[in-house]
Amino acid sequence: MDVTPILDSLNDAQRQAVTSPSEPALVIAGAGSGKTRVLVHRAAWLIEVEGISPQCLLAVTFTNKAAAEMRSRIESLLNVPVQHLWIGTFHGLAHRMLRRHWREASLPQNFQIIDSDDQLRLIKRLLKNLEADDSRWVPREIQWFINAQKDEGLRPQHIDDEGDPNRRQMISFYRSYEEICQRGGLVDFAELLLRAHELLRDNAGLLEHYRRRFQHLLVDEFQDTNAIQYAWLRLLAGSRGVPFVVGDDDQSIYRWRGARVEHIHRFQKDFPGTNVVKLEQNYRSTETILNAANAVIANNSSRMGKNLWTDGATGEAIKVYSAYNERDEADFIVGRLRDWIAQGHARADAALLYRSNAQSRVLEEGLINARIPYRVYGGLRFFERAEIKDALAYLRLISNRDDDSSFERIVNKPTRGIGARTVEMMRAYARANACSLWRAAGAIASDDLNGRAANAVNAFMSLIERMARETNGLDLHDKVDHVIHLSSLVEFFRKDKGEKGETRIENLAELVSAAKSFEPDPAEEMSPLDEFLSHAALEAGEGQADAWEDCVQLMTMHSAKGLEFPLVFMCGMEDGLFPHQRSVADSQGLEEERRLCYVGITRAMQTLYITHAEQRRLHGMDNFAQPSRFIAEIPDEFIEEIRPRVQVSRPVRSPRQAQYAHTAGGNDNELGIRLGQRVCHKKFGDGVILNYEGQGAHARVEVNFENAGTKWLVLSYANLELM
Ligand code: ATP
Ligand code: MG
Repeated sequence: MDVTPILDSLNDAQRQAVTSPSEPALVIAGAGSGKTRVLVHRAAWLIEVEGISPQCLLAVTFTNKAAAEMRSRIESLLNVPVQHLWIGTFHGLAHRMLRRHWREASLPQNFQIIDSDDQLRLIKRLLKNLEADDSRWVPREIQWFINAQKDEGLRPQHIDDEGDPNRRQMISFYRSYEEICQRGGLVDFAELLLRAHELLRDNAGLLEHYRRRFQHLLVDEFQDTNAIQYAWLRLLAGSRGVPFVVGDDDQSIYRWRGARVEHIHRFQKDFPGTNVVKLEQNYRSTETILNAANAVIANNSSRMGKNLWTDGATGEAIKVYSAYNERDEADFIVGRLRDWIAQGHARADAALLYRSNAQSRVLEEGLINARIPYRVYGGLRFFERAEIKDALAYLRLISNRDDDSSFERIVNKPTRGIGARTVEMMRAYARANACSLWRAAGAIASDDLNGRAANAVNAFMSLIERMARETNGLDLHDKVDHVIHLSSLVEFFRKDKGEKGETRIENLAELVSAAKSFEPDPAEEMSPLDEFLSHAALEAGEGQADAWEDCVQLMTMHSAKGLEFPLVFMCGMEDGLFPHQRSVADSQGLEEERRLCYVGITRAMQTLYITHAEQRRLHGMDNFAQPSRFIAEIPDEFIEEIRPRVQVSRPVRSPRQAQYAHTAGGNDNELGIRLGQRVCHKKFGDGVILNYEGQGAHARVEVNFENAGTKWLVLSYANLELM
């Protein structure tokens, strides 16, 4: 058999991993060393050379995007489509099993997935129902507690209260929360994993079936599996399954979500005789970028220790730009992006990475002004927008009347005269009779409510029934369209003045197109609507409207894991922001941030920019910050500092300016203006540069003069003197 295509373009260590015998294997290696590539080639090798049916492979990756990518790479290696190959995220695969075996999992057939927002809302409602003291019990903490327990595989009855009344109360909230979810057929993200684990653990027949089926279990980004994911994997592998896992301890960045890098050690104990393969050659980044990353991560104490090298080019220095404020930072980045695009590069080859989602807004504004198409991964994703969730709530309710969180979301949206008091009565009834709000609404409308309130409730219920009736049998997108139409949401949002209402209406229209382009998986045993709703909950953000357009990529460093880009900007590299304020206090937290920084740096293939701002407005507050300590951890020899050089037309050169021009590195903004620079004007006196725009003869600066206020001046006429 000709195995060349599969083994071609692999180095010796990679080849050894790909062709390793059917025994547990652990590939442990640094960033960009080809771990994901090895996994793809391993799958192709098993199918093509070992003759394993694609059905017998299970592959787990970190995002849905990565899963799609992996499937297409395997297909192109094999030159045939590989249907029946189970490939997805832990959550996606768990979900698939639960859909297939909903009975064994004790779930209703049309169970719905709730995201963390829905979950929080549900917990708030629960606290209210229980009349818990809300100054004492913080919904987010309860949410965190519940999820942390689930991530460890624990149900309320398994948790020891340790004699602590506080803890006892938390456990009791967890119990009540479970009851509500069970009643409404609601499944949160952590529940997907826990339930899928219990499903296999408690159904010997099923477990045997899947063990026999999945002979090979391939896992990417293994360092970020949490306890319940690991337990599921182990259960599935049993004593005959062959797990093949790849990971990098230095890229473990989900400790806060229960991921345990210790699983790497545990794996070798749990699967005796594991083949351990190390990959040490990096193929992604220039030597400069790789050395910088290695230098940063070397500051962490708890490491397995790896030696990563490249025979690639030295490459350019890492450029560090210190901006005056976040707007200046955005302008700088936009300027560099423009140059990059003008040189003929694809926009999608450039990524803007940041620590926190909130940073994206200013960057987005800069990109919009410059008319550079971009796409935000994560953050306020399409499916998370309020209007989209409203429309989805209608759809969910027609699919499952007992979905209380959807019911509450839309019972009075658009407003239809169902007041807080009426809803409160429904809740009380539902509580007393352990039933859903839908059933409670029916009951109180006929017995307890006065005429007007009863009419309003009846009207709402018949609207939902009508939606269900009229959309029965329609295609998915017609269904979505019709429900939006009947809901009157569009008329409702039209009342929001201006841009905001318009955007919401556009988004609703976009939902119909999303439904139209949605392709149900024939292997899934659920209605297209349920599949679409699950997709919306699971894959939020990964199917944005303009996915086909060539655009600059914006995402958090967390979501950049596993990806690579020729040009990378790491933005907002300031102490307090990155490393994050929360994590600098304890050394474990700081080490996790440093691993995240390592992930960020190693995304870059050719060019890396690091930017920070002296002053930043975030969440409505102005902060002054020092450059991130991680910048200082990169040896000077790999860094080129960039500061705007002051270069005003016909300036009177002052000694200070001459000195500044001398010390500054390259020029960055076209004007050579530094925000915050003090200047003097003949007529207006002393001032500070606030802003600038335009180029050449049209360049203008905004100056705040101490005595004359803020003015825009044409640079070439202003005769500004630098101070
Ligand atoms: P990360 O830790 O970031 O997930 P990784 O170890 O999974 O990285 P890959 O993404 O598989 O690394 O590979 C990094 C880059 O190096 C890819 O562009 C890949 O195609 C390339 N590459 C890997 N191995 C080789 C090889 N033997 N020859 C040429 N290119 C390679
Ligand atoms: Mg990878």
